Amino acid sequence: MAYQVLARKWRPQDFSEVIGQEAVVTALRNAVAEQRIAHAYLFSGIRGVGKTSVARILAKGLNCERGPAAEPCNDCDTCREITAGSSFDVIEVDAATYSKVEQVRELTESLKYGPAHARFKVVILDEIHRLSRQAFDALLKIVEEPPDHLVFIFATTESSAVPATILSRCQEFRFRRVALDQLAQHLEMVAKREEISVGRSALRIIAQAGDGSVRDAIALLDQLATFGSGSIDDGDAVRLLGGLDQRVFRDVLTAIGAGDRKTIADITMRIEEQGWDPRFVFGEFLSYCRMALHLCLGADLERLETTREEADALGAVAKAIGYEQLLRTLNLLLQSEMAVRRSESAALALEIAWLRAAELPKLVAIEALLAGNSPLSAQPPVPELQPKPPASHAPKRPKVINKTTPAAAPGRPPLEAAPSQSDSDPAPSIGSGGDSDDPSEACARFIAAVGRNRQALAAHLSGANSLTYSAGVLRISVPPGDNWLRERLDRAANRQALEEALAATWNPDASWKIVEDEVPEPEPKNAAVRAPQETHMNPRVQAVLEIFGGSVEAVEPRNET
Ligand SMILES: [Zn+2]
Repeated sequence: MAYQVLARKWRPQDFSEVIGQEAVVTALRNAVAEQRIAHAYLFSGIRGVGKTSVARILAKGLNCERGPAAEPCNDCDTCREITAGSSFDVIEVDAATYSKVEQVRELTESLKYGPAHARFKVVILDEIHRLSRQAFDALLKIVEEPPDHLVFIFATTESSAVPATILSRCQEFRFRRVALDQLAQHLEMVAKREEISVGRSALRIIAQAGDGSVRDAIALLDQLATFGSGSIDDGDAVRLLGGLDQRVFRDVLTAIGAGDRKTIADITMRIEEQGWDPRFVFGEFLSYCRMALHLCLGADLERLETTREEADALGAVAKAIGYEQLLRTLNLLLQSEMAVRRSESAALALEIAWLRAAELPKLVAIEALLAGNSPLSAQPPVPELQPKPPASHAPKRPKVINKTTPAAAPGRPPLEAAPSQSDSDPAPSIGSGGDSDDPSEACARFIAAVGRNRQALAAHLSGANSLTYSAGVLRISVPPGDNWLRERLDRAANRQALEEALAATWNPDASWKIVEDEVPEPEPKNAAVRAPQETHMNPRVQAVLEIFGGSVEAVEPRNET
């Protein structure tokens, strides 16, 4: 017997074999059983979810010699003819190759006569949205006043492209994308019956690549089995289908939860080496985090786009991180979405987004510390808060007086005592020596101006510890050893973008320099209050401000006794 491709071989022959379209199947079964037959149906949905298969099953159900039957017998001559595509009364037409108006006229002409043998004449018109305007008009006449024996079943992947005049005369059934778990289970069954040896992980990757389409997924299973001479290994599945294993996302999320920067850097490098599109990866990761959030809220596992195994593993990670922090992580990641999408250096933007998220656990530790939940002694010293101990006298630490301003905009703290910034302000920290009318707004305008030409550069400027414009010089403060900006600004195009933005924001003579965050100088002996701007340079202080949405009013030396 000649080899038959699996997708064709496993095409459903009756309603019970249709995967993932329970609502449609139930409605159609009932319609046939109760003989409430519409004259026109529209089946819409992505490719490979069973639209034309269900159309044929419906045609069989209507015409089965032992029917009309909610489930065709698949045994009588009529059923067999329809399955074989040789029935005179079930006409299957692909609109893509049949779009001319003359062809449609010829078809509608022939439909005026009753069925040759069967109960109904059934016309299955696939990809109906591809008919020309005139062809639709020719079709409309008979759809408007169909003879009793005639049933139209239109199928389309784009129901929005079907004219309203046709749509309004159809009973529409939307075919769903088949859920990942269901698809993986179905593939498992097919593989077993076809004696293909394949692991669960590979099955999931294939199901994922099928993207909700049963036909595509089975075709992929077929290809991989041919490639591996009847067996499929996980490595081949990953390599050939390029499926990004959800385990990678789980590793990233675990690393974010643990503040593990190294793992994040390793994974982003690997993703880049493997040639993944960072925008795609970021989008998928957001969905994955959302799933984690749902798991924290006790979501129904059946409804998640993952296998039960993965849901269990992710559930454990999500629980360890905790709902509140997951929510913060997602919120932070969402803020980076546009930067990742638009950036010329999307891989870098992705890495920054993940690394920023990985800083959250530390911020939460500070939050707990300030709330008094955690004994001071249990916390490692926070180096940035400690000035170098002067040689001669006892160390003094600046103390931050934090005041939560109820009026503060959520999400983004007003870092200046002066006017609050807008929520969408991309700059995390903006300070100024104060020789401009509204320094924070000016810095935000500056970053926006850079972003118009150089998205990645703007993203990284937003990630700088602070921007301070004073006496004609913009100081860009970066963490010690962070050479990224410096290296990028060695490139003429970036430098030019920066200088143009400087000129546009302040004046053409304005200059810039990169400064590394320094450990603060020791307090002068009697300095009771230090200018708040200096404190803004400190990333830990900024972190605290970001959590509480407060502002720094004054900085006082701490009295150790
Ligand atoms: Zn039959």
